[in-house]
Amino acid sequence: MVNTKEDFHVHTSYNDHSSPNLNIASAVEYADSIGLKTLAFTEHVRRESNWVNSYVNEIERNNTKRNLKLITGFEAKILRDGSIDCLPKYSADYFVIASFHTIYGNKEIWMNAIKSAIKNPDVNVIGHLAPESTFSLNNEELVEMCQLLKEHGKIVELNAKYNRPPLDWVLKFKEYGVEFHLGSDAHSLNEIGEFSRILKLVQLVGANS
Ligand SMILES: [Zn+2]
Ligand SMILES: [Zn+2]
Repeated sequence: MVNTKEDFHVHTSYNDHSSPNLNIASAVEYADSIGLKTLAFTEHVRRESNWVNSYVNEIERNNTKRNLKLITGFEAKILRDGSIDCLPKYSADYFVIASFHTIYGNKEIWMNAIKSAIKNPDVNVIGHLAPESTFSLNNEELVEMCQLLKEHGKIVELNAKYNRPPLDWVLKFKEYGVEFHLGSDAHSLNEIGEFSRILKLVQLVGANS
């Protein structure tokens, strides 16, 4: 079950590739105007990011809408060794989506990395999860991932930007009782709360709003 009034993956002007109209204040105004109930800011972070304190403070200052819950978070890249590209002092305190942003071209590296990310207690969500184009998972591997996700209480994101995970993976996650939520992965204002591209996935897991 997911809630279409909750968007758990929104970027801001703290990266260098979002649309200029997307900043924390405008995102809050827009999300409130379309009736969203939850908005998670999940800016791309790196261990060397030097803007984190001002980002956190700016979200706090804009937490002004009675009917809109703001969540402060980060999207952290899953590194080759399975660790995440975020300082522990931030990942421990804030909402964390862990996602692959690098193609490793090697199923074994990929599998080991995803397993470490799932076991990482600082990770809340696995973002836009899908195999690389050069490999797929067999049923045994997929089941192992389902069991790990369930065991470690990780949420799988239904990502509207990439239309992921693949349908058959979502079915398998559902079968094993893994929980889902929605992420628009918005890089511009009008993408916030917009899930029409993943209607099929949303229907598959069931929605309320
Ligand atoms: Zn991403
Ligand atoms: Zn993202």
